[in-house]
Amino acid sequence: MTDYKTLHSKAFVADLHCDTTLLMKRGYDISERHETGHVDIPRLREGGVNLQVFACFLDSDIPENEHVSATDELIDITLAGIETNSADLALCRTAGEARTIVDSGKIAIFVAIENGMALGNELENVARYHERGVRYMTLIHNVSSQWCVSANDTIPSFDGLTDFGCDVVREMNRVGMIVDVSHVHPLGVTKVLEVTTKPIIASHSCAFELCGHPRNLTDEQIRAIADNGGMIGINFHGDFISKRRWAISKSLAEENPAVVEELKGLLFGKYSGEDYEERYKRLAPTIKKWTENIALVNATIEDVVDHIDYFVDLVGAEFVGLGSDFDGIWLPPARLEDCSLMPDLSEALVKRKYSDYDIEKILGGNFLRVFEDVCG
Ligand SMILES: [Zn+2]
Repeated sequence: MTDYKTLHSKAFVADLHCDTTLLMKRGYDISERHETGHVDIPRLREGGVNLQVFACFLDSDIPENEHVSATDELIDITLAGIETNSADLALCRTAGEARTIVDSGKIAIFVAIENGMALGNELENVARYHERGVRYMTLIHNVSSQWCVSANDTIPSFDGLTDFGCDVVREMNRVGMIVDVSHVHPLGVTKVLEVTTKPIIASHSCAFELCGHPRNLTDEQIRAIADNGGMIGINFHGDFISKRRWAISKSLAEENPAVVEELKGLLFGKYSGEDYEERYKRLAPTIKKWTENIALVNATIEDVVDHIDYFVDLVGAEFVGLGSDFDGIWLPPARLEDCSLMPDLSEALVKRKYSDYDIEKILGGNFLRVFEDVCG
């Protein structure tokens, strides 16, 4: 049997999504190993992660006139984090740069924007963000914008993507920024695929057939993304990978909508300073109780691999990768509690009889292909 540790350390390992910038905004120092959070430099090293995407996540609740400045602030925080830790990290803008950075013994950091509201409805901001180093943009988050419908929107007011939205896709193609359709409504995904001339990604999404969360991708969408030459990063979020966990989360949200909203606010960086501390302290007993309940039915690393299996059976091993969503999810799967445990994923894939070649593609090779196609 293949020695999974050797295989993992030889492979180019890429994680397509984490929200650690939100923690850094609250002063989290990524140079130290933490007991909390899911990503820091020591744990990225332990996990053999070669490329980590840092998503600059714009909360849709932020007032519209602050969308651009709030996004720039998150990019500033991410770039400053790279600069401060330049012995370990470097910004990658092309796949070639990523390989060079990794060959020099550092971790390549890929900067992304999560939520196209970041454009402030100005097309010129695509090129400006690209200039700042951003290489993928998720077109939307959990609330629809004026030009893109969210997967969570049950009554879309237009057919997925407006003419402006189509222009955004064309502009991203032109400047060399990857279009990310995670969080995008199926109608929008269809439109993106009609317009784009470049491969796209769903950076952190799973299979709807295995877990019927609206954020997950249908077989038709998975096939269409594969036909486009794109790829999909499997999200580690229990609600997306495990039916039983999703059922519990759904009932908690239905019974306690206000508390769940406030918890999401805490997770998504809506509150800061004393306000954050005060809310966190007040909700701590609830968080503890719910965490204990969810832990009883929590997802495991095997659920993640089930989704990988599903994608591979449907379209082949060329179109799947990893999009953990670390630091943007609550209670990650057992044996994948943080990024230091990534080698366990290689072990699980070896046990399921994947070839070394396929495992290397899944761990990062497929993403590098799309990164190179779109950004050089
Ligand atoms: Zn997300």
